[in-house]
Amino acid sequence: MSVTESPLYQDALFQLELAGSTGGIDQNILERLKHPKRAVQISVPVRLDDGTVKTFEGYRVQHNMTLGPGKGGIRFHPHVSLSETAALAMLMTFKCALVGLPLGGAKGGVKVDPNLLSRQELQSLTRRYATEIAYFVGPDKDIPAPDIGTDGQTMAWFMDTYSQIYGYAIPGVVTGKPIAIGGSLGRNESTGKGVAFCINFAYEKMGKKINQDTKVAIHGFGKVAIPAALDLMEQGAKIVAVSDFTGALYNAKGLDINKIVTWAQTSRKFLNEYPDADHITNDQLLALDVDILIPAAIDGVITKDNVNTIKAKLIAEGANGPVTKEAVKVLNEKGVFIIPDILCNAGGVIVSYFEWVQGLQNFFWNLEEINTKLESIMRNAFNRVHAVSQSHRCDMKTAAMVASLQRLESAMKVRGMWP
Ligand code: GLU
Repeated sequence: MSVTESPLYQDALFQLELAGSTGGIDQNILERLKHPKRAVQISVPVRLDDGTVKTFEGYRVQHNMTLGPGKGGIRFHPHVSLSETAALAMLMTFKCALVGLPLGGAKGGVKVDPNLLSRQELQSLTRRYATEIAYFVGPDKDIPAPDIGTDGQTMAWFMDTYSQIYGYAIPGVVTGKPIAIGGSLGRNESTGKGVAFCINFAYEKMGKKINQDTKVAIHGFGKVAIPAALDLMEQGAKIVAVSDFTGALYNAKGLDINKIVTWAQTSRKFLNEYPDADHITNDQLLALDVDILIPAAIDGVITKDNVNTIKAKLIAEGANGPVTKEAVKVLNEKGVFIIPDILCNAGGVIVSYFEWVQGLQNFFWNLEEINTKLESIMRNAFNRVHAVSQSHRCDMKTAAMVASLQRLESAMKVRGMWP
């Protein structure tokens, strides 16, 4: 498989070209950014509980490390491929540069459905994956974090395996760790919180305010969707729909998100079995007549096929790449305000950066400090993207890429090319 063949990589290349010409970025810089710096493909054999051995495909891609060590999550999902991982690594480069972190872009993954593995099988998979990429990552080289299908426990197993190899505790090898081993307060909620911040910033620009008439539909019900929903509810908004891969829940008067979270955690069931709401499909959720739509699950959900059904005036890209390039074009023509993924979901990597810094200095901050710093970084980035969209007369997605490329261009030029 080639690095470039996935639709997500093609979309990333398209955005890069468009922003490159809009922002007048040096062609040589664009040429370099079209290719990942390094990509490793590994096999991850796992002894299953029934005694048989199954081998999974795994990857770690480092797209660009001009600004600092690689940074990006590890995804356990059946759709993981080399090309998709490379595209996501590229998005991490742009995300870190956009919000001003001293970090490059990377991403990893294993092609597996984690829902089909037991806890022991998942632990074996994680530990073998960590072993296979151990020489490739490290606190000064490349720092993984959670992504779809992985969480704090996955990071703890990864950190433990890496530390066993080197013979001492090395918490800085991953972020998104549990607090007990050097995780940061606020990391779990950070991506969703960042999405809610961005929605508020966008509303300020649109001259609106979130209140009890604000209707929100969220495609997703995970690490990004739930904290975003809770924050927006606290501000008075009604979350009328949420979804997982089995289907969506709907209530025009607003769903009780806390109740659904408790039910999902205690029953360990998926949303299609939830008793106290109407059930609709994911496509129906996307087409709801709401003020704000948050695609917060996976890439490629709003496409040329369903874009004309979208009624929301504001789309906050909580996931990476949820709106395809064809759909972005149609939405721009309709005047829909899109908060681009590399800005909208950057809260996670920003608090990952805080976690890394706190770990390196062995000095930990309180939650208020973390959330205040997070809001300030996101506000500055949002304002910068908005200013670029005005000065370059382009949409917010292109503007985010231009702002990011400007930072990368100056750093890459001053470092120069080796040899
Ligand atoms: N996986 C998250 C993302 O896509 C977080 C990455 C990180 O914290 O390093 O931004």
